Amino acid sequence: MPFGNSHNQLKMKFTSEQEYPDLSKHNNYMAKVLTPALYEKLRSKQTPSGFTLDDVIQTGVDNPGHPFIKTVGCVAGDEETYEVFKELLDPVIQDRHGGYKPTDKHKTDLKHSNLKGGDDLDANYVLSSRVRTGRSIRGFCLPPHCSRGERRAVEKLSVDALGALTGDLKGKYYALKNMTEAEQQQLIDDHFLFDKPVSPLLLASGMARDWPDARGIWHNENKTFLVWVNEEDHLRVISMQKGGNMKEVFTRFCTGLSKIEELFKNKGHEFMWNEHLGYVLTCPSNLGTGLRAGVHVKLPNLSKNRQFEEILKRLRLQKRGTGGVDTAAVGGVFDISNADRLGFSEVEPKSRLTSKPHFPSPLLID
Ligand code: ADP
Ligand code: MG
Repeated sequence: MPFGNSHNQLKMKFTSEQEYPDLSKHNNYMAKVLTPALYEKLRSKQTPSGFTLDDVIQTGVDNPGHPFIKTVGCVAGDEETYEVFKELLDPVIQDRHGGYKPTDKHKTDLKHSNLKGGDDLDANYVLSSRVRTGRSIRGFCLPPHCSRGERRAVEKLSVDALGALTGDLKGKYYALKNMTEAEQQQLIDDHFLFDKPVSPLLLASGMARDWPDARGIWHNENKTFLVWVNEEDHLRVISMQKGGNMKEVFTRFCTGLSKIEELFKNKGHEFMWNEHLGYVLTCPSNLGTGLRAGVHVKLPNLSKNRQFEEILKRLRLQKRGTGGVDTAAVGGVFDISNADRLGFSEVEPKSRLTSKPHFPSPLLID
């Protein structure tokens, strides 16, 4: 039998109909694609590390979504997930990424000098600028599926590699389990550190198992270059600073990220990447560049306008609250960033959507 782990064997004692989740009230990309027939077809499959269809979809089953705000509703547990479950994931990717087809190819360009503009965002409105992406280390399961040992190995590898950064990028690693509650909260409040594992998406996908074991943050002295370890992705690489010089932020992002990649390579490790999906990350919304370039921007008046969300959608931008995803805006300050990440490079000014997206299109939050 192809289904390997015993839990899946138990499920196979029941018919597909008996196991099919109730998705009748759901509005996420996974729920729109997963018909009973597709569930039946894929439910006996698993990746080489044992990630199953139910593991892929659990977060979307437990989090139905919102009528106008769509989440992806599925995750990858390893690099092979995207191949083994492509009949589900290809259409999800296509829907989420503006029609990106299974035959499309992705481009990577981390040469910061190729970025045009972005050095003069109005500091009267823009409080801070930030660019982040994720990276996955090939050969290790991703956070929804990794074992404790794997997670610790990813942490060790990362800390060893990051320790070799020099100059402005030189920094230190702070393991979550060695921080006091107050230190952790301060880093969260200052927008440097990921939140505690409260997000239902994180919890339902299994990414919060063993928390806080093997999680942490590495940062340089002035906290302008930061790396999260073992949150939603193996690595989240972040460049940020006060004010509106996005170009400077992006330059540091590219320089630091390229050095990190080189340091991993020197240790015999590469990041998950392929021509079609670009950088392979846990959430299908982050494939491609994985890049979210955003500003904290004061929009107290525009945000009260009925058209605010429609304007953002048409500009292919996403909004989040001041404290990040799933938080509210405080004092009219929003986190506004690009919604698209797949099918065009890091420096390309526009999303791959050259034609008008179909309306009403959902607001994308993840
Ligand atoms: P990510 O996409 O990196 O997971 P989250 O929405 O989870 O982002 O937010 C993580 C943290 O980063 C939050 O504290 C959020 O306030 C902070 N953040 C996001 N964008 C900016 C920005 N432009 N300036 C300052 N902090 C930011
Ligand atoms: Mg996040």
